[in-house]
Parts: sequence; structure tokens; C-alpha cells
Amino acid sequence: MGEFALIDRIKRRVRGRDDVLLGIGDDAAVLRVPAGFDLVVSMDTLLAGRHFPLSTTPEDIGYKALAVNLSDLAAMGAVAAWATLGLTLPRPDNAWLDRFCDGFFELADAHGVALVGGDTVRGTLSITVGIHGLVGCGQALKRSGAGLGDDIWVTGTLGDAALGLAALKAGSADAHPELLKRLNRPTPRLHAASVLRDFANAAIDVSDGLLADLTHLARASGAGARIDLGKLPTSEAARQFVGANEYQLRLHQLSGGDDYELLFTALKANGAQIALRMQECGVAASVIGEITGNGSVDVIDSDGRRFIPALRGFDHFA
Ligand code: ADP
Ligand code: MG
Repeated sequence: MGEFALIDRIKRRVRGRDDVLLGIGDDAAVLRVPAGFDLVVSMDTLLAGRHFPLSTTPEDIGYKALAVNLSDLAAMGAVAAWATLGLTLPRPDNAWLDRFCDGFFELADAHGVALVGGDTVRGTLSITVGIHGLVGCGQALKRSGAGLGDDIWVTGTLGDAALGLAALKAGSADAHPELLKRLNRPTPRLHAASVLRDFANAAIDVSDGLLADLTHLARASGAGARIDLGKLPTSEAARQFVGANEYQLRLHQLSGGDDYELLFTALKANGAQIALRMQECGVAASVIGEITGNGSVDVIDSDGRRFIPALRGFDHFA
């Protein structure tokens, strides 16, 4: 079986959209951007053994490859529309590809995303997804708009995926299925994008760890930040996994990766409205600190002391 049979197998799974004038099968796709919208484009690669454990199922790899990209669009305040898929496979394998597509298209169809093209080559397993979304002209959210005294918000709970990876490494993942699910099937917070568009001054998605990504946002905004350790949203599953080891919990929440939650800042005065709108769209969100003018990102514990974790985040070239 060759490259073209594989592409055909993928193509059969695609659910189209009216704005796809030309999809998979020609030299390039042709997409119609509606008047009044900006095109928002991003790309993320998942490399086997680096971005997902080698034991990850094909379904989960397919799901996660799209989820991490959708998360970037949500952080821009955009609505997802089209995806491209760069597949590097060690061998042509119909069964693997079908299972990969099960995960990929489950999420794509749920968000109305059409796969419009890609590339298929042989090599070490790696998946690159290009994502294309739409946002009203001039409305895209940046990392750079945070203002002094802004509340810092985060969606969902933090640390679950990193603790899921820890559980996997410790051989106890079976006992913590919720954590493993958060590692393998992150939920891109696209439903919250409209709330961010209406209220956020700056936004980023948390992929490399809260501290690392908050530092990106603060630097881009020429500001600092203060985080209250006790306010970090924590799942029941995470509490159960760490038991009395509070330091392990906080370390993974601050410096673990793969959360794919949205981190954004907004005027304090809009707090109640933001909480209400988040509730309406079914996304949990909490205030974890505020933007400061001191240029650093500090974490304060319940006794008012600075908390300094051993690690600050993930950097592929560090
Ligand atoms: P070309 O040689 O012109 O790049 P390809 O043979 O690579 O063409 O691709 C043929 C068509 O199939 C193109 O429309 C391309 O976008 C699409 N395609 C290739 N690989 C994938 C893939 N993994 N997922 C989706 N579409 C793909
Ligand atoms: Mg090609």
C-alpha cells in the first residue's frame, strides 16, 4: 500500500464545509475567508517519545495532535475552521491510520473543522497539524495587552496532565484514569474564546507550564505577575494522586506541561461578568493572581512567602 492509498483513506473521513472551495486531492486547498474576518494560523508538531509516550494509542495521538492546535486558536479568541495534517509514519499501516483518524475526526467534527490537505512521508512517527481559524477583523487576542492590576484567570484545573505522566512513569496510571485522560486528550477551550474576546486584555494557552507561559505573557506585556499558590485550581484526581505531598502538586501545577488551559488577564471590574459568562459556556475559570509592575513572576504561598519551584517549565532546546 502506498502514499496515495493512505491519503485516500484519510480523505474518506473528512466532513467538508461550504467555505472549502477545494479540499484534499489537488496541489493545494482553496479556502474562502469571509469578509470582515482575519485568518488566524498556527502549527504544532507532536514527536513520538517526546510529546507523547510511545505507549500512547493511535486514537489519543490523533485527538491530541488536533487538540493542542485548537488550544492555540482559542487563546487567540478565534473560531476554528480548517486543518492540514503532516504525517510522518514509519510504515504504511491501515489499522493504525484508521484508529488515528478515529481520534482526530472525533475532535475535528465536534468543532466543525475540515481537514483540507497535508503531506504524508515515511520516517520516525511524528504528526504536524496546521490550524486555520477566523476572528473578527482586529479582534485577535495577543499576549501583549495585560495591564497593571489586571486579574489573572485560568480555565479548568492545572497539573493534571503532568501528574498523569508522572503516574505513567511510576506504573500507576491505571489507578488514575482521569489524569491519564488529561494527558492524552486535552480539552481545547474553544467554547471560552468568545468570553476572552469580550473581556481579555491578553491571553496565552498553558502548554509548557503555568510559570513559563505566564512569563511569556508578562514579558510581552512589559509587566510582572503575582500568583497565589492556594488559588491554583486543583482537580480531585490530582489531590488523590499526590496525597499529602503538597510540594509535588504545586510543582506540577506551576511547571508541568500539557495543561492546554487558557491563561488570560482582564480588568478586575469585569470579574463577576466573566465568571457568569464562563459558567454559561460550561468552562470552569478562576482568578489566580494579578498583573504587577515589578517585572518578575512571583508565586506567593499561604503564609505570604515566595515559593520557588525547582523547575520553571519546558524548553526543547534548554
Ligand atoms: P503534492 O505532491 O502536490 O504535494 P501530495 O501527493 O503530497 O501532493 O498530496 C496530494 C493531496 O493529498 C494534496 O491535496 C495534499 O494536501 C493531500 N494530502 C497529502 N497527505 C495528506 C494528509 N496526511 N492529510 C490530508 N491530506 C493530505
Ligand atoms: Mg506533498
